[in-house]
Amino acid sequence: MSGCCDSGSSQIVTERDPVCGRSVNRVTAWRHEYADRDFFFCSARCQARFIAAPTAHLAAQQLAKPVGALTCSAHARKAWARVASALGQFRSSLAAKE
Ligand SMILES: [Zn+2]
Repeated sequence: MSGCCDSGSSQIVTERDPVCGRSVNRVTAWRHEYADRDFFFCSARCQARFIAAPTAHLAAQQLAKPVGALTCSAHARKAWARVASALGQFRSSLAAKE
């Protein structure tokens, strides 16, 4: 008898590690909850880095997302506007700490 494993239930859900940008498996990754969201990390080191400075890594994540995903130039322009404002927030949050 064979064919019993044909259910296709072994779906792997991947998330992006906001610190190093790697794809990680939701099930096996390190997890941290922040701002009502779950974040996943490839290692305890990335998780610790994120916990130390979550806003900085979220800003970096926002920079990476829209630019990579969009091809339409009008949308890209919007995305770059978001990048600029995210960068501004990032810089002022850094300035506030010092
Ligand atoms: Zn990582």
